[in-house]
Amino acid sequence: TPRIFSGIQPSGGLTLGNYLGALKRFAEKQDEGIETIYCLVDLHAITVWQDPERLRQQTREAAAGFMASGIDPTRSILFNQSQVSAHAELGWILNCVARLGWMNRMTQFKDKAGKNAEQVSLGLYAYPSLMAADILLYHATHVPVGDDQKQHVELTRDIAAKFNHDYGVDFFPMPEPVIEGAATRVMSLRDGTKKMSKSDPSDASRINLTDDADTIAQKIRKARTDAEPLPETLEGLKDRPEARNLVNIYAALSGMTAEAVVGQFAGQGFGAFKPALADLAVAKLSPISTEMTRLMADPGEIDRILGEGADRAEAIARPILDRTLDIVGMVRSR
Ligand code: ATP
Ligand code: MG
Repeated sequence: TPRIFSGIQPSGGLTLGNYLGALKRFAEKQDEGIETIYCLVDLHAITVWQDPERLRQQTREAAAGFMASGIDPTRSILFNQSQVSAHAELGWILNCVARLGWMNRMTQFKDKAGKNAEQVSLGLYAYPSLMAADILLYHATHVPVGDDQKQHVELTRDIAAKFNHDYGVDFFPMPEPVIEGAATRVMSLRDGTKKMSKSDPSDASRINLTDDADTIAQKIRKARTDAEPLPETLEGLKDRPEARNLVNIYAALSGMTAEAVVGQFAGQGFGAFKPALADLAVAKLSPISTEMTRLMADPGEIDRILGEGADRAEAIARPILDRTLDIVGMVRSR
């Protein structure tokens, strides 16, 4: 039976990229009746230093963002990673399975470390193997993610296969990345070649789920574009990454295909398209931000929900970790 696992780092505020690439689809999977487990991966967030008080705040805010996006904590399991210690424990075992050569190929590490590769944390380098543990700990079959996480889910499959092979077992199932929708890779509003990220130093590069209507409209108005009108067909957007990005966002928010969006706005300039996009974005996002504000007013309730989610997650994860320890050869006498 299918079981979905996915996560988001509370490393900043949630963005439109997180919403379209992840949250919106998380809610759809839940509504399809599939078993869904969603995790605020706080252990991943600290691969880059986080102010402790802000990390707690961001974790609660992200939990509110999940719920405001339609994730119902009675139908899905919603929890924060550090409350289920089995993640860190399996993470260590998988560090001993993953090969250095595999880790060296991870493009996200290269992007995040930049020229500074000697100065970043060991955790940032090892993070994809902890992510493999997150997924394998639940024997998840499907992992809905944005396009940027495809390589890490593929690494998870390699780690699972090597574990099964090295120990002569058929224990970890191969999880499938699920990358679908019109906006699997939302780009920065300032640079059409860079992914929109919550950790980008430029706030103008992204739309945050907590931005108010004026801020959203202003960021879209100032989004970088070229001077050409929208083309007649999608083909005409091939070498226009900024324009393509705005069309994709419009498509994902409206539920239209990118072809249909281009068809509707063909021949019009950004002076017409941007206000239409801003109206659509405000209409879709402002109910979410209103609901987040409402939920955030009761942090005690959010903590209670995360605690209950952690209990339910642990009930699945612990037996799988215990079987892993047995397979690996650890004495377990209590
Ligand atoms: P950070 O900059 O800290 O890495 P992030 O914005 O990349 O933050 P993550 O927590 O790393 O967010 O990713 C959470 C989920 O959101 C993943 O499934 C990821 O693929 C998806 N995602 C992140 N950015 C985008 C984007 N720009 N477009 C589509 N999906 C995205
Ligand atoms: Mg990321």
